[in-house]
Amino acid sequence: MQIDLTGKTALVTGSTEGIGYAIARQLARAGADVVVNGRTEEKTAKAAERLRAEGAKGSVAIAAADVSTAEGCAALVAKVPHVDILINNAGIFQPIDFFEADDAVWDRHWQVNVMSAVRLSRAYLPGMQKQDWGRVIFIASESGFNIPVEMIHYGVSKTADIAVARGLAKRMAGTGVTVNSVLPGPTLSEGVEAMLADERAKTGKSSEELAAAFVKQHRSSSIIQRAASVDEIANIVTYLASPFASATTGASVRVDGGLIDSL
Ligand code: NAD
Repeated sequence: MQIDLTGKTALVTGSTEGIGYAIARQLARAGADVVVNGRTEEKTAKAAERLRAEGAKGSVAIAAADVSTAEGCAALVAKVPHVDILINNAGIFQPIDFFEADDAVWDRHWQVNVMSAVRLSRAYLPGMQKQDWGRVIFIASESGFNIPVEMIHYGVSKTADIAVARGLAKRMAGTGVTVNSVLPGPTLSEGVEAMLADERAKTGKSSEELAAAFVKQHRSSSIIQRAASVDEIANIVTYLASPFASATTGASVRVDGGLIDSL
């Protein structure tokens, strides 16, 4: 199977690093014209430069905007009025105990993880529907099913992503537009690397070793017993974004290393 996305425009939110960057790179290598998004012009431009150096076949454009606000999403849509592929990836995760997590914590997770995707899907789906082809992919998480006790607010935001994706798939019924969610398990992104920084300094262990120890201790149902790489997530996203995945819609696709213990 040769995935060819030539002629398709793909917007990946939060794609200056982490899983988002890896998705942007895979889509660009498959020939898509990619729009990189991050909050600052500087980081976004740097990521675009890196993408070009790392084998992008299509064009690489930048659209800096904070997708956690309605104004930021509107500015993004004004810069990029039409996309064929929307990857709702931007997201935050902050471990805070339920009794310490105030309304601001809940609201921040809701705005970045859910409302960014709601607003952008509302803006881009009509154009996809009109041309009878489109792909919307929500980067949710296994935490949407296995609510993590150390960040209930995060788990709830990811459950919401899965629900919105399922609802939108049904809303697009009978068209060539598919909407799916992808559920990564623990993944060694820059965000996770940053969370492990103190532990790395304290123990002298590598991020891979620490992540594997975390998985074994706190996500013990993991079958692969390690964190995934960002490319392992990007692979499945690229397939779902391609014409080959035309009969998969309304699905929550796990890339969780077998962590969710259900059939
Ligand atoms: P990361 O922190 O490494 O990267 C996040 C990216 O989003 C960065 O480029 C950041 O600049 C951008 N971003 C954050 N807030 C933004 C905003 N308001 N506007 C625009 N850009 C913004 O994160 P990651 O680990 O790559 O996570 C990406 C997605 O994958 C998130 O939705 C996360 O919930 C999900 N996920 C991650 C893991 C994991 O273990 N890493 C597991 C499951 C799901």
